[in-house]
Amino acid sequence: MVKLFGKHITYKKNVLWLFSFSYIFSCLYSSPVSAQWYEQQAEKMGTLVRVEIWHQDSATALQLIKKVLAEIQRIEDSMSPYIESSLLSQINRNAAKQRVKIDDELFFVINKSLEYSKLTHGAFDISFASVGHLYDYRAGKKPSREELIKRLPAINYRSVILDQNNKTIHFLNPDIKIDLGGIAKGYAVDRCIDILMQHGIKSAVVSAGGDSRLLGDRQGRPWYIGVKNPRGNGHLMKLPLVGVAVSTSGDYERFFEKEGERYHHILNPKTGTSSKDIQGVTIIADRAIDSDALSTSVFVLGRERGLALIESLANISAIIIEESGKVYYSSDLLQPEL
Ligand code: ADP
Ligand code: MG
Repeated sequence: MVKLFGKHITYKKNVLWLFSFSYIFSCLYSSPVSAQWYEQQAEKMGTLVRVEIWHQDSATALQLIKKVLAEIQRIEDSMSPYIESSLLSQINRNAAKQRVKIDDELFFVINKSLEYSKLTHGAFDISFASVGHLYDYRAGKKPSREELIKRLPAINYRSVILDQNNKTIHFLNPDIKIDLGGIAKGYAVDRCIDILMQHGIKSAVVSAGGDSRLLGDRQGRPWYIGVKNPRGNGHLMKLPLVGVAVSTSGDYERFFEKEGERYHHILNPKTGTSSKDIQGVTIIADRAIDSDALSTSVFVLGRERGLALIESLANISAIIIEESGKVYYSSDLLQPEL
């Protein structure tokens, strides 16, 4: 059993006891009697979205949760490649022919994606979709060798051009398609937490599939976020966390198997095929846009280059499960804080 440490991890026993006592005291003497958890789930952005907040008043709480779910829907309507009228679909239809005007929000998310492409030397690349759209994981469909060879040169983030002054985007290659599946859910979760903070909420969790962000703690206790066993049921571990974002990327989320090969939804931009060597990556960061993009990035980079990247960044932790099932941790999680 590995004992994890680090800035984010909060399960030292004495602290837990302290939390428990202060929780009981606050329940008995200070907090409003009617305060409780309110929770709702909904299918959005192709996954299960969950919102849970601590509030005194049920009508306000439910209204706030509604607002948060509406925000996720708004982002999906703009960034989904499956909605024809989305701004992202318009970009994919037109940006090779002309400069396409985009809003500040899409500019921000695409710009952030390109920053991660530079940081990861192309392991994170939203133009993966130039080949990615030829796969259908539910139908068990993959591109032929010829199709793959023909489309592969279109995966290149350097051909995605943003104009900061005019807020436009255009593509330098006619075959480019972009997809924000590796970053948009993290962005959406951050937006939801921003809204909850603006409304004075102190304790909440918002998750969209494998991307979660925690606001505060769970009434004096940490939140426990599970890291799934990639090849079995249940969790490999539960991380006691407070006020951070956590994202997991796994090869078990969306995949099919053919002739003994596992075809899953995280592509290596160099080959246009599913990234090998890793089963799952969990990243802890302050914001979910970063944990989301980095979990996909480290998955593609592999253990060695992935851990080197994480060690070079401030306030980011990683847990990597290799193909062999062996688990690796960034050094901050293995060293007790002094
Ligand atoms: P999910 O929570 O959907 O499982 P992940 O954060 O694990 O998402 O990222 C996988 C998604 O990222 C894929 O479904 C795809 O949309 C997108 N993606 C796949 N490969 C890459 C890549 N090399 N760079 C950027 N995005 C990618
Ligand atoms: Mg991701």
